[in-house]
Amino acid sequence: MQTIFSGVQPSGTPTIGNYIGAIQNFVNLQDEYDCYYCIVDLHAITVPQDRLKLREQIRSLAALYFAAGIDADKSTTFIQSEVSAHAEAAWLVQCNVSVGELERMTQYKDKSSKQEMISAGLLTYPPLMVADIILYNAHLVPVGEDQKQHLELTRDFVERFNNRFGQGNDLLVLPDPYIPSKQSGGRIMSLNDPYSKMSKSAKSPKSYISMLDDPSSIQKKIRSAVTDSGQGISYDSDKRPAIANLLTIFSAFSSKSIDELVDKYRDAGNAQFKDDLADTIIATLEPLQKRYYELLNSEELDNYLDQGADKARRTADKTLNKMKNAVGLGRKR
Ligand code: ATP
Ligand code: MG
Repeated sequence: MQTIFSGVQPSGTPTIGNYIGAIQNFVNLQDEYDCYYCIVDLHAITVPQDRLKLREQIRSLAALYFAAGIDADKSTTFIQSEVSAHAEAAWLVQCNVSVGELERMTQYKDKSSKQEMISAGLLTYPPLMVADIILYNAHLVPVGEDQKQHLELTRDFVERFNNRFGQGNDLLVLPDPYIPSKQSGGRIMSLNDPYSKMSKSAKSPKSYISMLDDPSSIQKKIRSAVTDSGQGISYDSDKRPAIANLLTIFSAFSSKSIDELVDKYRDAGNAQFKDDLADTIIATLEPLQKRYYELLNSEELDNYLDQGADKARRTADKTLNKMKNAVGLGRKR
């Protein structure tokens, strides 16, 4: 059985972009793969976080994972900072990538331009992500389109490390990205601005729908989402990017393809289209939220996370030891 690794940062409440681009696939893939799903809290502190809010967000994200359908018995689900191998392996990765490679990352350029103080961790975020992936020998990494460049860096690193230290063996597994196409939700755009990515850490809550938004906020946010000029509903991601984004969201939350939706709403007004879209999102999120609130303060949630961290540690420590030996660190054991 092949292995999957992926994660979400507890940097806010996940949005429907995170759900469509990543979490929905985590659930769909768990029967066919040996999955490791992580709450990547070490990544979240690359930008400033309030300590009490961070704690809440970590627990909340864990509850959301399970409420969305991740099964603790099938998928190893854990908190990154509880498995110390991640930070250690990240150091070995950092010593084998160049500062130039890291400065070229678009996420770094984008996020650093919004910070007063740019932490060194924001620059070395990709090596930590490389470490996350290689520690579990992941073959496949389900992520949104924005993570494509980091996965290319991961593949470059694995090839380099295997060549340098493998002595003819493939020490580390070369992972493939698993990224939905734009039409399938690989890049859900902001509701305010169809040219920027929907992000949970965005300043304006009107730009996203969070997985915990209540029905009336979902309705309001969809109603006030920007649309494009022109009559009726049609899919054209260049000329009508805002409607294209809403159609992508609609399709992801229903069992209907974009073509079927366009057929149905071709002559409809924006208001009717938006109301039906809001109802569809609410119908998926309501039961998920119910399960979320049952889990949030339960012992069950802690048990799942303890079980996940134990299993993750066993796998990660093995790979870390292999890497340390290959590099020549410590004593041979
Ligand atoms: P932040 O603003 O803190 O970076 P984020 O919304 O970008 O938050 P991440 O935790 O960085 O979320 O990413 C978690 C997963 O969700 C990743 O696989 C990422 O590619 C995916 N993802 C993030 N935003 C979107 C989006 N707008 N559309 C599709 N997938 C997305
Ligand atoms: Mg992000």
